[in-house]
Amino acid sequence: MQGVLTDTDVAGEACLVWLRDDLRLADNPALTAAVASGKPVIAVFIFDQANTAIRPLGAAARWWLHGSLERLQQALRDRGASLVLFKGPSATILADIIKAAGVSAVFWNRRYGAAERAQDAAIKEKLKADGIEARSFNSHLLYEPWEVKTKTDTAFKVFTPFWRAAREKSVPAAPLPAPQAIRGRALPDTLSMRPVTLAELALRPEKPNWAAEMETLWQPGEDGAAGNLDLFLGEAINGYGENRNRPDFRSTSRLSPHLRFGEISPRQIWASTTLAFESGASAGKERDFDKFLAEVGWREFSYHLLYQFPALASANFQGRFDAFPWRHNPEHLKAWQQGRTGYPIVDAGMRELWRTGWMHNRVRMIVASFLIKHLMIDWRVGEDWFWNTLVDADPASNAASWQWVAGSGADAAPYYRIFAPVLQGEKFDPKGEYVRHYVPELAGLPNDVIHKPWEAAHPVLTRAGIRLGTNYPHPVVSHIEARDKALAAFKSLSPETTA
Ligand code: FAD
Repeated sequence: MQGVLTDTDVAGEACLVWLRDDLRLADNPALTAAVASGKPVIAVFIFDQANTAIRPLGAAARWWLHGSLERLQQALRDRGASLVLFKGPSATILADIIKAAGVSAVFWNRRYGAAERAQDAAIKEKLKADGIEARSFNSHLLYEPWEVKTKTDTAFKVFTPFWRAAREKSVPAAPLPAPQAIRGRALPDTLSMRPVTLAELALRPEKPNWAAEMETLWQPGEDGAAGNLDLFLGEAINGYGENRNRPDFRSTSRLSPHLRFGEISPRQIWASTTLAFESGASAGKERDFDKFLAEVGWREFSYHLLYQFPALASANFQGRFDAFPWRHNPEHLKAWQQGRTGYPIVDAGMRELWRTGWMHNRVRMIVASFLIKHLMIDWRVGEDWFWNTLVDADPASNAASWQWVAGSGADAAPYYRIFAPVLQGEKFDPKGEYVRHYVPELAGLPNDVIHKPWEAAHPVLTRAGIRLGTNYPHPVVSHIEARDKALAAFKSLSPETTA
């Protein structure tokens, strides 16, 4: 590529960019600042499992990370630099590179989990004490979690006023362009810690390769993210306000895993969405655009909650839920995980998750409600299963959403809202197409019973090739009985809320 420098520059001061959840070139403030420093750049990703306070990535997210790193390595190579991979304790590896490569500045974009913040703060303090410039930036959010406050200077606990205050505060800054050329710096062989190859990180499954379908569906990396956004703004934004609840067609942007790994920034999404609206390029109406941006707002709110309540994934936001009589039932849990509960919409969702690493938001709510309320299994067990199986498993949105469904969270769904799986299926998958796709053994059922096979007449089941209890399960619990038990348990909790 003409005009591009290669990372052969070996002398003088260098600037290290420590990449983490920001695997992109465009709108990456740490990278842009490093390039602007005029020093050669060393871009590093550290797969750090040494800090046990930081939750390790789940299996599906590790699969995604492989693709994301692969794409970023290529993109940096195209611009004259490299992405060097390491495995091990971040602080030790950074210190090693700094010493061996003459690094005088280290830049990174911020993370918001408590353990991640503690790690970053300790590293920053040490760097400064050693006379190294250390700078951090916001690349992950539209608004820093501490910036949006109530009039009495407290954190918000309710979404609507939070989002109103955020929007009134300021218009998100315009995204930064990707650097065209990056003067890279090769690492010397005097390093004590050896860089690793992507293959050595062993992020992808081999035997068995459970990710085969995921490979056909997703394109991790910045180009895949931009492609999904373009596709969405060109089509599905039109009617998003209504259609976003429909799992039976491509009704949402599918940007969540790209956002999780920072392959696209919320500022980029904001700018492109606003532009599409103002230019009238999309047929979508104002309500559709507002609704879409408000969903991005829910992600912001989840980070706002995580920041003020770091134990979001492990402790009830409302302490009164500590007394909830959760049940331990491995058989029910397994039926839920495998998509064999006997409720077609629940089973379709759980199988979509297993096959694709993703699930439609409406169905996430239905399956989460089913686990928590019908099976009365602790929301943390479901959160953990999602953490392992979702490509977009996010420290803030996953925990906040599970607590929202449980009723234990901030601004949560009231405990008495118990989704009826049959009604939900009939309303949001009216022709049963989503169920037929993911639960193919039910494909031959007519629409009026596809969401409740146990109500189908015997000849109808026979014609569809279904033997309940043999090739498709009977419902694991009765909806009415389970609902009554859950309501009684929720009512037994004390009314006061503590956070
Ligand atoms: P779109 O409808 O196109 O929305 C655009 C973006 O807005 C999403 O990519 C996402 O970043 C954000 N967003 C949308 N809805 C929500 C929401 N309810 N809460 C927070 N952010 C939202 N989302 C994750 O990114 N990671 C998770 O681990 C996660 N776990 C969830 C667990 C449960 C039980 C539930 C009910 C929801 C969870 N969500 C999670 C939120 C939501 O389901 C996904 O963000 C959404 O389905 C992603 O699809 P999309 O990108 O097509 O969304």
